[in-house]
Amino acid sequence: DREILAAVEGPIVMIGFGSIGTGTLPLILRHIDCDPSRIVIVDPSEENRGIADRHGIRFLKERLTPENYIDILTPLLMDDEGRRGFCVNLSVDVSSVAMMELCHELGALYIDTVAEPWLGFYTDETKSPSERSNYALRQRVLDLRDRLPKGCTAVSCCGANPGMVSWFVKQALLDVARDTGHETEAPTSREGWAHLAHVLGVKGIHIAERDTQRAKDPKPRGVFVNTWSVEGFISEGLQPAELGWGTHEKELPFDGREHEFGSKAAIYLMRPGAGTNVRTWTPTAKAQHGFLITHNEAISIADFFTLREGDRVVYRPTCHYAYHPCDDAILSLHEMAGRQWQPQNKWRILHEEEVLDGIDELGVLLYGHEKNAYWYGSQLSIEEARRLAPYQNATGLQVTSAVLAGMVWAIENPDRGIVEADEMDFARCLEIQRRYLGPVTGTYTDWTPLKDRGQLFPEDIDEEDPWQFKNVVVR
Ligand code: NAD
Repeated sequence: DREILAAVEGPIVMIGFGSIGTGTLPLILRHIDCDPSRIVIVDPSEENRGIADRHGIRFLKERLTPENYIDILTPLLMDDEGRRGFCVNLSVDVSSVAMMELCHELGALYIDTVAEPWLGFYTDETKSPSERSNYALRQRVLDLRDRLPKGCTAVSCCGANPGMVSWFVKQALLDVARDTGHETEAPTSREGWAHLAHVLGVKGIHIAERDTQRAKDPKPRGVFVNTWSVEGFISEGLQPAELGWGTHEKELPFDGREHEFGSKAAIYLMRPGAGTNVRTWTPTAKAQHGFLITHNEAISIADFFTLREGDRVVYRPTCHYAYHPCDDAILSLHEMAGRQWQPQNKWRILHEEEVLDGIDELGVLLYGHEKNAYWYGSQLSIEEARRLAPYQNATGLQVTSAVLAGMVWAIENPDRGIVEADEMDFARCLEIQRRYLGPVTGTYTDWTPLKDRGQLFPEDIDEEDPWQFKNVVVR
């Protein structure tokens, strides 16, 4: 069932072979024409080595560190005949900026799904919340891009979210434009997109997700269970809650803070995302609480859609994640909160065969426009994920298929330097990815965060504008 979409002539180096790495490998083998004997996986854990062995893929048991990564990766990524290689970073605790810089020097293509720091960053108590933010991590990538404006393509943060959801935002904007009498061709510039969002009156965007995948076995006490990286989720959950800060917002939250550097497209709250709930909506859940977990896309999307006149910002949407993870992860977060955020000693990522049923409903909720709010996204079920590709649950396939789309786009656009998902060809990427997303649907809703509020107890709400963040955040 191979369907070749692109070719890599040089080596492919995969860093990290956890839930996302193992799911990505079969998609690479299925869709990217390459020499399997020139693929190598680098991971300190041999937990999934059997999958590499089954496909005859070389496995190097190494933990990359700031001291050893150049020596380990340089020979792996070099090609005697100058054929271009590809570095696919799907690890935790390996600096994205260090990998991008090395790939730039070696002329290799690069992709990752998160702007990751080296080990220790997230728990460094000497760093201020601003310094521990995703805003700061993204700024490091932007600073590198300022230093290395040209060169081999390096795709930053191209998973499901961050990643695919940036492409969903654009499709959703075109849908809302069509349905409100503003039908238009897809804009061709960043300003064009920002202008369209502004004209449509989009006040903000939730990355609104409901993961209903249920485990066959109930969560044991003292074990953190999730449908993707537990380490990754805990790290981002303990960063400050962060959101792109829109121009319609009337007042900074009492615990909101501005950064002292960069574009200032986002703010952070003086509390962890894992302890911050927001009101949101998805088609299956309808009204629900989600966690305002910090994510790169909350910042990059808000930045991308910012409209300026001179130095003055005239328009920017609020943008943040509103994540209802699988039920076992909710219990796990609750347990961890009770331990004053000390992570449980054991963890488990639900393999595809451990999931009883459920879907990962992941999309974007564009709100504040003429038709109130519009959710557009993927509703991939575990059953369909099983049929489509091996070694992954529905969550995994939404991520790995975005990695595949990003890789194909990078191969087709090899000299673009460092790019974010917002800057890629959303239509081409979704065209590649769609075969793995299950139903992709758009739904309007009349829900607002003021619906059914204040019935039993008085609440401090802004009745004039339902879409103020004040009404969205759960206090
Ligand atoms: P995982 O925890 O299952 O796997 C991570 C792997 O990295 C492990 O096998 C681990 O041994 C390896 N690793 C740890 N330290 C390393 C080092 N120093 N050098 C090399 N390898 C090392 O995680 P996952 O679910 O596969 O996720 C992988 C990455 O993708 C994480 O950073 C996660 O945050 C990110 N992710 C992004 C999205 C998205 O939509 N953008 C979604 C899911 C995961």
